[in-house]
Amino acid sequence: MSNNEFNDIPFNSPVQPAQLTPDTKFCFNCYPGISCFNACCKQADITLAPYDIIRLKNRLGMTSSEFLKKHTVPFEMDSHGMPGVKLRTTDVDPVCLFMEEEKGCTVYEDRPTACRYYPVALLSSRKSDEYHDQQNYAMVNEDHCKGHDEDRELTIEEYRKEQQVEEFDELNRTYYQIILKRKSAGPSIGSPTPTSFQFFFMACFDIDRFNEFLKAPNFRKMYNITDKEFKTITTDDVERLKFSYRLLKQVLFGEIGIPMHEGAYDERMEDRKEVLEMRRQAEIEQNKQKDPIDKFIED
Ligand code: SF4
Ligand code: SF4
Repeated sequence: MSNNEFNDIPFNSPVQPAQLTPDTKFCFNCYPGISCFNACCKQADITLAPYDIIRLKNRLGMTSSEFLKKHTVPFEMDSHGMPGVKLRTTDVDPVCLFMEEEKGCTVYEDRPTACRYYPVALLSSRKSDEYHDQQNYAMVNEDHCKGHDEDRELTIEEYRKEQQVEEFDELNRTYYQIILKRKSAGPSIGSPTPTSFQFFFMACFDIDRFNEFLKAPNFRKMYNITDKEFKTITTDDVERLKFSYRLLKQVLFGEIGIPMHEGAYDERMEDRKEVLEMRRQAEIEQNKQKDPIDKFIED
């Protein structure tokens, strides 16, 4: 039996191996004026989750496509090339572009999950014989962080509350589950195609472009959703994100969560077979020439 435990998401950091529980106590404090203030943000390697992007793009008054182009770089989350995104930093040193020397984090109220948790690491894992994931924690102990020397003891759970991560965890959790399921999937799920990765990227990260996809006439010809639900998912980013997870589980794993009109799938596939193949070939050619992030974002 294979075991995917300790499959760390979203961190790949100097994580200490001991798994911690919500009741584990640790000593830590971080505040403006501490000798290492901003040191962590000058060595930023921040993987973003879908709800992080919603918070940041809304704070900055941008569309998700604009945010992704300006503030992120893509990376591959696994050997199949499953796409993820990280916060863009300065070119020479990995200094976060949202950090200002005097002020610290300029997006503090909407900072990403990874920044909130630090120096705790959130670890999502899933055993291959279990459906649901587990969330554990570990400690990241880096020399530059002097917060560990502070005389303030608190539990992981108290720290999570203080950092207001619960809302982020709740809205990102299905995303982590989808990644873990995809990573641990056997041949039954099939090999991912460039088109399926494009769809995954749009549904998870480019939530405003996903809205355009929902509003296109073909979507409602295929999926049987009420006017009320359609209005909700096309006007509310968070509700759209929850819907995108349901659709992704359906598309990637065949878990039917959104009813389809009878015969709509077969009809549409027949109509689009040739177009889809041509588009797939065109995408492959186009992706060879573009900047890494551009291959996921249409102009
Ligand atoms: S988003 Fe804010 S907290 Fe996170 S690395 Fe950047 S400046 Fe630091
Ligand atoms: S104590 Fe740690 S988390 Fe806080 S500013 Fe210093 S390096 Fe960053």
